[in-house]
Amino acid sequence: MKIFNTLTRRKEEFVPIEPGKVKMYVCGPTVYNLIHIGNARPMIVFDTFRRYMEYRGYQVTYVSNFTDVDDKIIRKANEEGVDASEISERYIAECKKDMEAMNVRPASIHPQATREIGDMIQMVSALIDKGYAYSVEDGTVYYKTKAFAPYGKLSHKNIDDLEGGHRDIKVAGELKKDPLDFVLWKPKKEGEPYWESPWCQGRPGWHIECSCMSKRYLGDTIDIHAGGEDLIFPHHENEIAQSEAANGVEFAHYWMHNGFLNIDNRKMSKSLGNFFTVREICQKYSGQVLRFFMLSAHYRSPLNFSADLMEAAEASLDRILTAGENLRFLSQNAKTDRMSEEEKQILAGSDLYAKKFKAAMDDDCNTADALAAIFELVKYINSNTTDQISRELADQLYERLDTLMDVCGLILEQKQDNLDAEISALIEERQQARKNRDFARADQIRDDLLARGILLEDTREGVKWHRV
Ligand SMILES: [Zn+2]
Repeated sequence: MKIFNTLTRRKEEFVPIEPGKVKMYVCGPTVYNLIHIGNARPMIVFDTFRRYMEYRGYQVTYVSNFTDVDDKIIRKANEEGVDASEISERYIAECKKDMEAMNVRPASIHPQATREIGDMIQMVSALIDKGYAYSVEDGTVYYKTKAFAPYGKLSHKNIDDLEGGHRDIKVAGELKKDPLDFVLWKPKKEGEPYWESPWCQGRPGWHIECSCMSKRYLGDTIDIHAGGEDLIFPHHENEIAQSEAANGVEFAHYWMHNGFLNIDNRKMSKSLGNFFTVREICQKYSGQVLRFFMLSAHYRSPLNFSADLMEAAEASLDRILTAGENLRFLSQNAKTDRMSEEEKQILAGSDLYAKKFKAAMDDDCNTADALAAIFELVKYINSNTTDQISRELADQLYERLDTLMDVCGLILEQKQDNLDAEISALIEERQQARKNRDFARADQIRDDLLARGILLEDTREGVKWHRV
């Protein structure tokens, strides 16, 4: 399995620290509002990578944090006249609903910054003791960037160039010794949440949070650290500086970053009016369609979101779901149970697509090619199945398709047992009405179902239904 490592800018063979186990940390959202579709991209792609590593037999410990103390959270709390924790808890709960809608599995652990303050104070103290940080008279603690010689190794920036870019920037009231130094701990302002510390009543800087939560739940050195490419600099660069200076060992062996998400070829922003929450998109399409759309591109490529592309994603996903539905129907209505010799050949022929899927995912989690392999499998299934096939072949092909879909976090059999039962009962009633020549009732049932997005189709094998 190969991973493109931002640190070396090369695809590298993945070698875990401990055979068979993966320790992975993914930077999570700051919770002050409903998450937007830009937040959804790392959630979906790294959840898919996690699922794939598990499919490959790895035991994955997946940690993803919620940043629950931040200027934006505090501002919103002040606007509403409530505690900052009320805002963050509310939007953590909402974020979890969106994750469920996109079938993003909960992390093994979802740490929250405000619950780990003790560890942060400890790490900041250690950095001061080792000469990598200093406090100033207002109680702010800064990281002494130039004391960490490898600074810039992840973003491939040269510290002297950075220095030049910062030379003229002097923020009034800041007491730091060098423009490159960044905040580890800052004093509270009026009305802000704060914690006691050796330096002042205050709160941690954003970067130290991830260094501490990663250390606490995964140890000093982890296998993979991931996030959006906008986090490479300064967030991840600073995490490396903090963790490696404090712990004295390499922080993460592999760094993975997903590309930007644009809307209609423009950067997503509230001022441009092209800002979408996951909630809005899931209501208009579904979390599954959004997930399929996100996986249709390579995670490192920029991805353009548009209504046309979402419609196309919906149609593509529907083709796969229809193939699954057909197999279920064929299984239920099969006249023979066991596979014939010829059918065994057909099943063996489907192995090729699972191999292609695996090769694509092994190549730096190429979900675009992996989905293409699923499509080839669908085509193979459609051209090799008739209403004469055995139940065993229908079931086996279904299972193969379902396994690959599941690695992508895409649900082949919609969780709709109750709905299925209700639809079946209505179809039964409609058949009875037609037998009784009550065509008005039969048509009414058909129209009612259509209004709910269920299209009935009278075929030679009986009545089938699918979503429209
Ligand atoms: Zn982070």
